[in-house]
Order: sequence, then C-alpha cells, then structure tokens
Amino acid sequence: MRQTLSILRGLQELDTSIWRLRREQERLPAERERRRGSLDAKRQRLIEIDAELRHQRALIKEIEDATTLSRQRLRKLEHESANSRADQAMLAAYGHEMRTLRRDISDNEEEGLREVEKAEAKQKERDGLQAEIDGLEKEFAVLDEALTREEGEVAEKLKEMNAERRRRMGEGVPPDVLNQYERLLEARDGVALAMLDGRTCQGCYIAVPTNIYVRLTRGREVVACPNCQRILYLPE
Ligand SMILES: [Zn+2]
Repeated sequence: MRQTLSILRGLQELDTSIWRLRREQERLPAERERRRGSLDAKRQRLIEIDAELRHQRALIKEIEDATTLSRQRLRKLEHESANSRADQAMLAAYGHEMRTLRRDISDNEEEGLREVEKAEAKQKERDGLQAEIDGLEKEFAVLDEALTREEGEVAEKLKEMNAERRRRMGEGVPPDVLNQYERLLEARDGVALAMLDGRTCQGCYIAVPTNIYVRLTRGREVVACPNCQRILYLPE
C-alpha cells in the first residue's frame, strides 16, 4: 500500500501541473477576448463619431446654403430698391424684408460658427480616438503573438505530461484505487490527495477521527478523509 500511495503522490504532483496548465489554456484565450472586446468597443465608438461628424457637416452645409440664398435675395432687393420707382409702401415693404434678411444672415452666421466649432471639437475627439486605436492595435498584435506562442508551449507541455501520466497509470496501482483517484481529481478541482498533518486533513482542514489516523499509520489500505473524501497520506 505504501508503494501505491507513493505512485499516487507522484501522479498527484504531475496532475497538479496538468491542472494548472489546463487553467492556463482557458485563461489565455479569455485574455485575448477581453483585449479584443475593449478594442472593438473603441472601434464602434469611432464609427459613431464618424456618423455624428457627417451629420454635423451636413448641418453646416445647410446653414451655409441658407445664408447664401439670403445674401442673393438681399442683393436683389438692394438693387431693386435702389433702382425702383416704386411707391413708398413698396419701398417700405422692401426695407422690411431686407432688415429681416440681414438679421437672418447674421443669425445664420453665428449658428454656423457654433456648429463649425462643435465639428472641430468632434474631429479632435475622433483623431485622438483613432490614435488610441492605432496604438491598441499594435499592442494587441504583440499580445496576440505572445498568447499564441504561450498556447503552443502549454499544449506541448500538456502533451508530454499526459504521456508521462499514462506511463505512471500503468505502474501497478489497483484499478479501483485509480478510479477513486480519478473521480476525486475531477470532483476536487485537481486535488485528489491530502496530507494528514497531526489529525488534520490538509485538503479540507478538518480533524479526522482517531480510527482514521490509526488505519492510515497501519498502511494496509487506502484511507479517505471522511469529510472531503480525499485519499490521505502521512508526512514522510
Ligand atoms: Zn479532508
């Protein structure tokens, strides 16, 4: 039985590494996705800003067109009123429309200026974001390469360790004990064995009854912790 426990302990040591590598195997793609997600969110924001900018520029164009039309109309009225022999009532009407046009032009110019300022601020935001995205894309490419390399190394190590594992599985541990070990490995997150330190199981940190300790020191059978079911062994 000491021989069995010794093989199991070797196996557990290997399995601890295998489980750690498996966790790495899950972490690496998750890390890649997290970074990609943050980059995608910024790219999405850039698309939104571009749409806002197009809208802003269309608005500025509209205001400019309206101003041009008002100016043309004003010039026409100025010309007509200067050269017209129309009566006072007509001239007063011209005068009224021209004042209105001048006020409209002035209002439009002010509004146009405000919108141009807004568009400039938005363009600045866009340029800043684009620069940030460019930087992040470069970073991501480096990270992606490193992650891919790491994934390859992890896969290679796992392959070797699993081969070693298969070899050790054939070293003469009774099949029922191996089954018990494998079940515990899955159920207890990769830790099937626990040292009994004094009377305390180092897997669950609960004291075991005396008879468990006695059975374990006799060394004739596999003894499990009554609380966490892990296979117990004594310190060397
Ligand atoms: Zn325990």
